[in-house]
Amino acid sequence: MEPVFPTFAASRPYTAFKQEMTRIGLFLPKETVEDLSALSRYFNDLLNNPKSDFGRMFWKTWAVKNDGIKRYKSNRINYKFKQMMKVFGEIKKNVKVHKLPMWRTHFTCQNCGKRCYPDKFDRWYFDDQYNYFCNCEIVDCESKIGCIERDLSNNKQAIIDKKRELRLQLLRLDERMELLVEKEKKMKTIRHIEKMKPAFENMKQNGHYKATRDQATRALKDMEKYDAWFQRERRNANYKAPLGGAALGGGR
Ligand SMILES: [Zn+2]
Repeated sequence: MEPVFPTFAASRPYTAFKQEMTRIGLFLPKETVEDLSALSRYFNDLLNNPKSDFGRMFWKTWAVKNDGIKRYKSNRINYKFKQMMKVFGEIKKNVKVHKLPMWRTHFTCQNCGKRCYPDKFDRWYFDDQYNYFCNCEIVDCESKIGCIERDLSNNKQAIIDKKRELRLQLLRLDERMELLVEKEKKMKTIRHIEKMKPAFENMKQNGHYKATRDQATRALKDMEKYDAWFQRERRNANYKAPLGGAALGGGR
C-alpha cells in the first residue's frame, strides 16, 4: 500500500525518489536490490513484494534486462520467482559438470572409523560378515559436495606441482645449456694453436737459453698432434682391400 500524502505536491518527492531508485535498481545485482539500505523498510517491502504492481513491474524489467528472461503477456507471472528458478537451474548445471561416480562415494565414517557407503544399498556392506564396515544408523562422513571440492582442489594442486617440477627442469636445462656454451667457447681456443706456432717456432730457433729452445721444440711437437684432429680426410685403420686384389693377405 502506498503511503498517503495530504497533497499531490507532498507526494512528488516520494514518487520521484521511487522512480529514480527503480532506474538505478535495474543496474544493480539482485542481492543489492533485495536489501537496499538506502530505502525505507516500507519501500523495500514494496520493491521486494512481487505481487505489488510496482514490485511486479520492477522485477519483470529487472529479470528481462539482466537475466534474459522472456517477457510474458500474463500479469500473473512472478518474475522474481522466475529469476530465482533460473539461478537455481544454473547452479544445478554448474554442479552437474562434476560427475561423481558411485564408487567414489565410499568414505570413512567419523563415528566408528570404518568404511561406509551410505548412498546406495550394497550387500557387502549390509551383510558385513567380518564386521569390516560402518554400521552406524547415521553416518558422519565427507559430503558429496565436499568430495567434489576436494577433487577440484587436488587437481589444482597437481597442476601447481607439475608447473613447479617443469620450472625446475627448465632451470636444470638452462644450467646444462650454460655449461655447453662454456665448453663450446673453450673448444674454440684450439684454433689459436695455429696462430701461436710462428712465435713458438721463433722461440725454438732464437731462444736465449737452451732450456727455452727445448721447451719450445717439445711444445711444437705437441701442437702437431692436434693438426691431425682438424683433418677430415685421414687413413682408415680398418680398411680391408677387396678380395682378389693385389694386396691379398697383406692389406696394410
Ligand atoms: Zn560409522
